[in-house]
Amino acid sequence: MTVVAVLRAPRWHAHAACRNTADRAGWIDAEPDSNSSIMCKEVCRTCPVRLTCALTALVHGEREGVWGGMDKADRTALMIIGRDKVA
Ligand code: SF4
Repeated sequence: MTVVAVLRAPRWHAHAACRNTADRAGWIDAEPDSNSSIMCKEVCRTCPVRLTCALTALVHGEREGVWGGMDKADRTALMIIGRDKVA
C-alpha cells in the first residue's frame, strides 16, 4: 500500500482483519459461493470492524467482492428484503 493510499484510508481500515492478507484480489473478485468467498467470510467472522465494513458496502452500493462477511449475493438479498419492508 502506498503512503497516499494509507493517508486516504478510513480509520477503520487499520483494524480490518483482512488488512494484511496476501490475496487482496481474492477479496475484490470473490464470486458468491466460491472458495475465495468462503475463505474471506471466515476472516470476516472475527473482524472487529465487520459492521462498519458491511454498512460501508451497502451505503456505497459495492457490487463486487466480500465486505463485512457478505458477498454480492448476500448484499443483493439484504437490499431486496429492505426494499420489500419499506414498500
Ligand atoms: S469485515 Fe471482512 S472485508 Fe471487512 S474489513 Fe473486516 S475482514 Fe475485511
